[in-house]
Amino acid sequence: MLNTGKRLICSIHDVGPMFAGQTERLRELLYDCTGTMRMALLVVPDHWHRAPLSRDSAFASKLRAWSDEGCEIILHGWCHKDESRHTGRWAGFKARHFTAGEGEFLGLSREEAVRRLRDGRALLEDITGKRIGGFIAPAWLYGQGARDALREQEFDFAENHMRVWRPRDGREIARGPVISWASRSRVRTLSSLGFAALARRMLRHQRIVRIAAHPGDTTKPELLESIGQTIAAFRPTHRLSGYSDLVEHGA
Ligand SMILES: [Zn+2]
Repeated sequence: MLNTGKRLICSIHDVGPMFAGQTERLRELLYDCTGTMRMALLVVPDHWHRAPLSRDSAFASKLRAWSDEGCEIILHGWCHKDESRHTGRWAGFKARHFTAGEGEFLGLSREEAVRRLRDGRALLEDITGKRIGGFIAPAWLYGQGARDALREQEFDFAENHMRVWRPRDGREIARGPVISWASRSRVRTLSSLGFAALARRMLRHQRIVRIAAHPGDTTKPELLESIGQTIAAFRPTHRLSGYSDLVEHGA
């Protein structure tokens, strides 16, 4: 048993009927790399309004089984798509360039964010039979409305690229960049492979290391290989953990 106090959190983004096959592939990869089901699954209740989890009982049963086997189920938006009209040049720029239109919670009003948080959480709690303690916004982007909504919705944690925090009072739970990969273009793929290789060396002393896999990663063998290498690099020094461990024991 590792006693260094360092932790490794592995997660799969965009879990849901839309990416059922890719979820399965990544779940197997993480299982092969870690030997456990200790991983976070970030679930989208109705991806792009085209894949309602509430109407896919086969996928819902799988989700429940994974939860029972030890996966941590986290709410990851509602539809994942940014449908808001952004006011202000910076918000519009962020929405277009950083997220390819996937920052659902960037432009929501507080009321709308509350509604989606409540509905999403209720659905996942219904499916898993367990309390859902975490919310992670699509593309890791939170607008003011989302932040206000989260503060009053009793989630234990939220995260962005750089940190994990407790929404109720903003207390920081962990800090440090999340390692993720990009499949959208050759250039982005190459730079994400470079970043992962660098992170494997530079983040060795980081207390909390977060790794995030996405459905698109399954389209390129070199990305899957890099994910495996990255997990393997931290396994000797970092204890495999869930977000709930950070909340319970502090970072
Ligand atoms: Zn996502």
